[in-house]
Amino acid sequence: MEEKTKGDKDWREEVSKNLDYYLDTNEGRNELMEMVKAETTRLLQQIKSRQRVKEYIWLSKFCSSCLYFVKSKAGIMKCTKLNAKIVKPFHGKPIWAVIVTTNGEESLIVDINWCSKAIDVTDILVEEAIKRINNGYPYPCFEHNE
Ligand SMILES: [Zn+2]
Repeated sequence: MEEKTKGDKDWREEVSKNLDYYLDTNEGRNELMEMVKAETTRLLQQIKSRQRVKEYIWLSKFCSSCLYFVKSKAGIMKCTKLNAKIVKPFHGKPIWAVIVTTNGEESLIVDINWCSKAIDVTDILVEEAIKRINNGYPYPCFEHNE
């Protein structure tokens, strides 16, 4: 598990060192999206084995004007059509806990804080990503809120 964590750190470092590439080129953006998608899938799989997890989708620029978009006072966003939680791109910070098992101490992800960024990316990159989610098109569930 420790090796994995190191591997993740490497691509995060790589991204923060080469923001121009990952922000300003199509290739870079696609690569970054793939990396983050893989990371999110990995995180979800890890907590899935311990608890029921709803679907999470990344916020797109269309969501707030969608008929099915709901935002609670606490700031939690949802798509009521997909029954999915909507989170900002690159958000989802794992919450680790140390559990004592028969094999000794073991660290595992007990939850994900969707209000915190998963990786150290700038807000500009988050905003850019929101604009480019689903290639800049609304999700299939989108219906304009008149
Ligand atoms: Zn939706």
